[in-house]
Amino acid sequence: MIWNPSVECMDRESMRKLQSERLRKVVERVYNNCEPYRKRMEEAGVTPEDINSIDDIVKLPFTSKKDLRDYYPFGLLSAPKEEIIRIHASSGTTGKPIVVGYTKNDIANWNEAGARCLSAFGLGKQDVIQVAYGYGLFTGGLGAHGACETIGAITIPISAGNTEKQMLMMHDLQATALACTPSYALYLAESLEKSGLKDKMNLKVGIFGAEPWTEQMRKEIETKLGIKAYDIYGLTEISGPGVGHECECQCGTHICEDLFFPEIIDPETGERLPDGSVGELVFTTLTKEGMPLIRFRTRDLTRLIYDKCECGRTSVRMEKIMGRSDDMLIIRGVNVFPSQVEAVLCEVEEFEPHFFITVDRVNNTDTFDIKVEVKEQYYTDEISGMVKLQKKLAARLQSVIGLQPNIILAEPRSMERSQGKAKRALDKRKLQ
Ligand code: ADP
Ligand code: ZN
Repeated sequence: MIWNPSVECMDRESMRKLQSERLRKVVERVYNNCEPYRKRMEEAGVTPEDINSIDDIVKLPFTSKKDLRDYYPFGLLSAPKEEIIRIHASSGTTGKPIVVGYTKNDIANWNEAGARCLSAFGLGKQDVIQVAYGYGLFTGGLGAHGACETIGAITIPISAGNTEKQMLMMHDLQATALACTPSYALYLAESLEKSGLKDKMNLKVGIFGAEPWTEQMRKEIETKLGIKAYDIYGLTEISGPGVGHECECQCGTHICEDLFFPEIIDPETGERLPDGSVGELVFTTLTKEGMPLIRFRTRDLTRLIYDKCECGRTSVRMEKIMGRSDDMLIIRGVNVFPSQVEAVLCEVEEFEPHFFITVDRVNNTDTFDIKVEVKEQYYTDEISGMVKLQKKLAARLQSVIGLQPNIILAEPRSMERSQGKAKRALDKRKLQ
C-alpha cells in the first residue's frame, strides 16, 4: 500500500514546485528566528529573497555536526522553547551529545514519514510490531513507535535487549514484524533457532536500520528468520528513522523528499555532484519548525537514483549507505569515534594516547579491540597489575562510549608513531 500517493507518486515537476515553496519558507524561518543561520547567510551574502526555487539551494551555506555541537543545546532552534515538545540526542564525538528539539508538527511529520515506510513494507492495522530499538534519547525506539501507532498497528514497545523476553513476547503476541538493528536481528535469529521457538513464530517483516548492513547480511537474516528484511534510514539531526525506506522491490531507499531534500556533494570540495555520482549525502529539512537544518552534511556516502521505481513511487531513491566520509565506526549499533578513545586515554594517567582500534565480525558479532600503550612507570611483568589496568581502562571507555572494548596492552614505546595524519582504526568488516 502507498500511504500518501499524492506526494509519493507526484510527478517530478510538481515535486520540485512543492520543494521550492517549502524551501523558501524554511529559509525565511531560520533567517528570522535563528541567529547563527542569519549570520551564516549574511557572511555568504544571501538573503531569503535570493531563494526562489529549489535550484537556488546551492547558494546556501552548509550545516555540519560541529555546528550542532557548537550551538549545543538550543542555539539552533528556530522556534520558541514553548513550542518544543520533545528532545532527542545522538551520541556525538566528544561525549557532548547533539541535541534536537521537535515541535508538535515536527513529530507529526516524522510520524507521517515513518508511516510511509511501514506501509511500503506492507504493514498496516492488521500487524503486531515489536519495537526492539532502544527507547530514550536515541530516535530509534520512539521513532519506530510513532510510525507503528500512526498506521494503527499493535505496537509492542519492548525496547532493546533482554533477548529471552523478546522471544517470549514475539511468540505470545504473535508479532508479525520486528524493528531493530540488523545485527540484533541476526542475534535474535540465532537465539530463536537455539530455543527451538523459530517455527512457532509469526514474523513476516523486518524493519532494520540505524547502521550500515550489506546485501549479504540481508539474505542471511531473511533466510534465518524466514522474513522480508527492509532497510529504513534516518538520522537524529534530520528527525530520526523514516527519512527514507525501501519498498517491496528492495532496489534502493525512497527518500521522503517532500520533507527532506537530498543532495550529493563532493566531500572534499563541497561542490554539488551531477545526478548518479557517489558522494556525501546532504539534507535540508523542508517542513521542520523546531530545529530546521539547511544543507546538513550527513557524511554518509551514497548515490541518488531519479528513475521511477517499479513500485509506482516517483520519489528519489538512494543506494545503500556505503560508509561514512569521516572515520566513525559503528560497532554493535553504537557510534564510536577514535577521538573518544583518544580523549579517554589522555585522561587516564597510566596510558599514553597511542592506540589502534581493530573491529571485525566473528560469528556475526562485532569484535572491538583497542591496543594501547602503557606508560613506562606503570608497566610491570606482574599479571595481576596489568589485568587491573586493563579493567580500569575498559570501564572508563565503556562509560564514555557505551560499549566495552577488549583492551590489548602494549609495552612502552612499542607502538608506531605517525608522521602525518595518524591511522587510528582498521575496520576488517569492510574487507570481508
Ligand atoms: P547516533 O549518532 O546516536 O547513532 P543516529 O541514529 O542519528 O544516532 O545515527 C544516524 C546515522 O546512522 C546515519 O547518519 C547513518 O550513518 C547511520 N544509519 C542510519 N540508518 C542507516 C541505514 N539504514 N543504513 C546505513 N546507515 C544507517
Ligand atoms: Zn519503489
